[in-house]
Amino acid sequence: MQATSAKPSSPALDRQSLRPDCANCFALCCTAFGFLRSADFALDKPAGTPCRNLASDFSCTIHDRLRPRGFRGCTVFDCFGAGQNVSQGQFAGKSWLEAPGTKDEMFAAFKAARQLHEMLWHLAEAQERTFDPDASDRVARFRDTIGKALGGGMPQLIALDMQDLHSRVRAALMEVSEEVRASYFAAGGDHLDSELKPGADLVGRNLAFRRLCGADLRGAYLIAADLRNSDLSGVDLLGADVRDARLEGADLSKALYLTQMQLNAARGSRTTLLPPDLEVPSHWGDE
Ligand code: SF4
Repeated sequence: MQATSAKPSSPALDRQSLRPDCANCFALCCTAFGFLRSADFALDKPAGTPCRNLASDFSCTIHDRLRPRGFRGCTVFDCFGAGQNVSQGQFAGKSWLEAPGTKDEMFAAFKAARQLHEMLWHLAEAQERTFDPDASDRVARFRDTIGKALGGGMPQLIALDMQDLHSRVRAALMEVSEEVRASYFAAGGDHLDSELKPGADLVGRNLAFRRLCGADLRGAYLIAADLRNSDLSGVDLLGADVRDARLEGADLSKALYLTQMQLNAARGSRTTLLPPDLEVPSHWGDE
C-alpha cells in the first residue's frame, strides 16, 4: 500500500524508468568503465575506451553469447536507467561518436547518474513499503532532490557531495527497513539465528527450506549460498552479495531492496518468485 506523502515531481523518478533501455543509450557501460581481465570480463579494458566487441551502432557484436565468451559481467550489470537518461536527456541524443569533445563529460555524468539512479530505485521501494507518513515524506524529499540534481545537468551533478548523500539515503532506507522487517518479525520465522545479520559471512551456507522472513541480511555475503525454497519475505538484501546463490523455488516477491543485478548474478529458475518490478534473467535455467 502507498503511504500518503509528497509525490516525486519528475517522471524520471518513476521506478519503471529506472530500468535500462539500451536502445536509447550510447553504450556508456561498454565505454565509460574500465575492466581487468577476470572471470567476469575476458579482457583488459581501460576506462573511457570502447570495448572491442562494441559495434558502431552501439550494439554488442557478441550479445547472444556473452557468457560462453567469458563476459558474464556484462549479463549482470544494470545501469538503473542512467544510460538512456544521460544519453537522451543530458546530452540531447548526441553521442560521443558524433561529438567526441563531450566524451569525458558524458562518461563522468554517467558514473554519477548511475549512483543516483540506484539510490532512486531503493527510495522508490522504501516509499512504497512504509506506512509511516513522516518516513514517506523524508524519502520523497530525497527522491525530489536527486531528481532535480539529475535534471540540472553536469553543474548540479558535480556540486553534489555523493558520499554525504549516499549515507543520508542509506539511513532513510534503514529506517524503512526496520519498520518493514518488524512486521515480519512479529509474524514469526526462523530468522532468529544469530548468524543472520548485516554483513554476515554466509558464503556457501545451506539456508534451503528456511523461513527467513524479516531477517536483516544487508551487505551479507551469500555467495553460492543455498536459498532454494526459502521464504525471504521482508528480508533486507541491500547490497547483499548473492553471486551464484541458489534461488530456485525461493520466495523473493516481498524481499526488500533487491536489484536486477543481484538476480542476474544469482542462479534461479522460473520457480523463483520475484517482485513485480524485476524480471527472470534470460540465462536462468540455461546452466
Ligand atoms: S562485451 Fe558487449 S556488452 Fe560487454 S562491454 Fe563489450 S560491447 Fe558491451
